[in-house]
Amino acid sequence: MDKTAAQLDAQSTNENDELPDWQHDVRVLQEHLQYAFVQGCKVLGQGRVADYIPELARADTYAFGLVAQKTDGTVVSCGDVDTRFSIQSVGKVITLAMALKLFDIEEVFSHVLMEPSGDSFSSIIKLDTKSDLPYNPMINAGAIQVVSLLANHVNSQDVLQFARYMCMDPDIDLNEPVYHSEAQTGDRNRAIAYLLKSKGVLMADPEETLDLYFRLCALNVTAKSWATLGLVLANDGENPITSQHVIAPNHARAINSLMFTCGMYDGSGEFGVKVGIPAKSGVGGGIACSVKGRMGIGVYGPALDEKGNSVGGLAALEYLSHALHLHVFDYHPYIVEG
Ligand code: GLN
Repeated sequence: MDKTAAQLDAQSTNENDELPDWQHDVRVLQEHLQYAFVQGCKVLGQGRVADYIPELARADTYAFGLVAQKTDGTVVSCGDVDTRFSIQSVGKVITLAMALKLFDIEEVFSHVLMEPSGDSFSSIIKLDTKSDLPYNPMINAGAIQVVSLLANHVNSQDVLQFARYMCMDPDIDLNEPVYHSEAQTGDRNRAIAYLLKSKGVLMADPEETLDLYFRLCALNVTAKSWATLGLVLANDGENPITSQHVIAPNHARAINSLMFTCGMYDGSGEFGVKVGIPAKSGVGGGIACSVKGRMGIGVYGPALDEKGNSVGGLAALEYLSHALHLHVFDYHPYIVEG
């Protein structure tokens, strides 16, 4: 029989023990994930799949999947976790990580700022009126700028290989229809690239930059890819399963910080209060979450709110954060003081 939220909540911590039950017992974690899945499913009808990139409109509003992967390698999942969908804005994490590998951290952040914009992800307003440099690498302007930094040094195959490596997913590949669909309709991103060029800050040819950016956005991933990406970021850049140092700890720290403050676009503040986990979303329906020292969580749910975040993902993550005490500023009843 299904447990109630109160029953699940009661078993999520154990006063006689140092760790909550879900850290000992994978079945408890699975039950919580299933409950979170139900919370997400309830609100899917309130969202809409993205259609400004025509190919994305083919997604199923009611598709939904959740995966959590702990640092000990345990994986729990529920729903559509093997469905391939396009990476979209979660790719901004991949290109930022690549740029940090190729250049000094100071160099990277001399080309893009580290501030939340408070505007929608494709906004051009602040770039035109307030600052020559994009506000942060998690919005389109900032990601296009980071891609321009990469464009003279790497090609789309390098980006693909790095995405596979970061997500431990050799099946990531280019979704050609999504790539062509965005390349044909991406005039707003074209406007951003040319505005950056007009200000003399874009680091490569705008068409080459845009082509690399559109190819990045069209990589096909799964919710499982996101759980692994989140896990690497949650574990200071080291993949705990393979012990590979995928990215440097200070790069993981910078990326987690930007995911926390900017990863959910102009919904980042509310997400920070309600969920409190570094996360990055994309209009393909994905969210990658990095729960420091504990797990990565991957979401697939293409029904989006007006800000471009998965509605099912938001509801499920709010439940999980509360039930498992995952909020970075949470009070952990099981931490022994003194
Ligand atoms: N490819 C999309 C765009 O540039 C990515 C946006 C997103 O996922 N929020 O518009």
